[in-house]
Amino acid sequence: MEEPTGRLTPKKVAVVGGGLVGALNACYFAKRGFDVEVFETREDIRQAKVVKGRSINLALSHRGRQALKHVGMEDKIVSQGIPMHARMIHSPSGKQSPIPYGKKGQFILSVDRANLNKELLTEAETYPNMKMNFDHKLKDWSPETGLMTFTRLDGSHDQIQADLIVGCDGAFSAIRKQFLRRSRFNYSQTYIPHGYMELTMPPVNGEFAMKPGYLHIWPRNTFMMIALPNSDKTFTCTLFMPFDEFEKITTGDEVMEFFQEYFADTIPLIGVDALKRDYFRLPGQAMVSIKCSPYHIGDKCVLMGDAAHAVVPFYGQGMNAGFEDCIVFDEIMEQLNEDFSAVLPEYTRVRVPDDHAIADLAMYNYIEMRAHVNSKWFLFRKHLDNF
Ligand code: FAD
Repeated sequence: MEEPTGRLTPKKVAVVGGGLVGALNACYFAKRGFDVEVFETREDIRQAKVVKGRSINLALSHRGRQALKHVGMEDKIVSQGIPMHARMIHSPSGKQSPIPYGKKGQFILSVDRANLNKELLTEAETYPNMKMNFDHKLKDWSPETGLMTFTRLDGSHDQIQADLIVGCDGAFSAIRKQFLRRSRFNYSQTYIPHGYMELTMPPVNGEFAMKPGYLHIWPRNTFMMIALPNSDKTFTCTLFMPFDEFEKITTGDEVMEFFQEYFADTIPLIGVDALKRDYFRLPGQAMVSIKCSPYHIGDKCVLMGDAAHAVVPFYGQGMNAGFEDCIVFDEIMEQLNEDFSAVLPEYTRVRVPDDHAIADLAMYNYIEMRAHVNSKWFLFRKHLDNF
């Protein structure tokens, strides 16, 4: 923990959403000496037996690391991650070809989503001016007064007021609903025709089943699979495919035919029984791209992370961009003496074009990989960032 700066009358900041971006952001505000409260709809994931959420692991890159560094978390998170120095491309015949991410020594990291979230929550709690409220689901809030209403699992309600509300409540943000009611708020959301499904590749004799220092990719034109290593020596394989293709496969034998044709080298590594079972465990999950502007209402509320800019995952930059939001906001706070009425519009002015660019790049990469990846390797190499 780093020493918070002093302020005679600390203003109250409510961070709604204790996911990756909310938990990190809470550290940023606490470090500045604000009275910070985090409100998270889920129970405390550090106590939960099963942590529900999206992808099991994520690629952490430079943007994200810089933001972690600012609150003293970079080294700890990096030490728990697995460096990936290159992509490993698997051809249909099983041939493997590495494509480095950058110069020698440069790498991105595979990090465990749940563990990263837990570490950030634990770090946030080390600040004395921090209060965590789990099982608090935001129902409604007022942009005029900053009054928020939360519901709890036992049916009770809590009303809390804050000077600044920071909406970090993800792609389906309840905070953003108030923005949608206002004039001159631009908003677009696009679901892509692809879904994703996660499968686990277990260790072989206690070791990784494939080389761990890589982000493995099986590009197959209209669909693809990727695999990132985990610290328990498993790989999480993510199959991205159009929903109608997912739905065509209805039996275990059809799963095997499909894998035999496109991902044959993975069958002995994932295992026949596991494939037949896990393919039907959950349906394909949807992916959405959301853009909006402005990111603020007056001096009362600001959106960050997926609440402001959910992106499709083909650029591996959603969380990284959300982490960068925290550092950009903090820099503007410094420049403008923490005057919310000046900071919030400046944040929108500076941040919207960059976040929209990330969303466009991610969408471009989705099309690039789907349409050209097998025929134009050089484009694949040039345009893929994390993935
Ligand atoms: P979230 O992680 O969605 O957290 C929002 C939090 O708000 C949650 O804890 C939720 O419970 C809480 N909440 C929601 N509603 C309320 C409410 N009403 N009241 C109170 N709390 C509420 N990004 C990368 O950088 N690298 C990757 O490799 C990568 N891979 C990905 C792979 C997949 C398959 C997917 C789907 C995404 C991937 N991403 C990746 C993107 C990344 O997951 C998101 O950008 C990131 O999770 C955004 O964090 P967030 O805190 O803004 O939102």
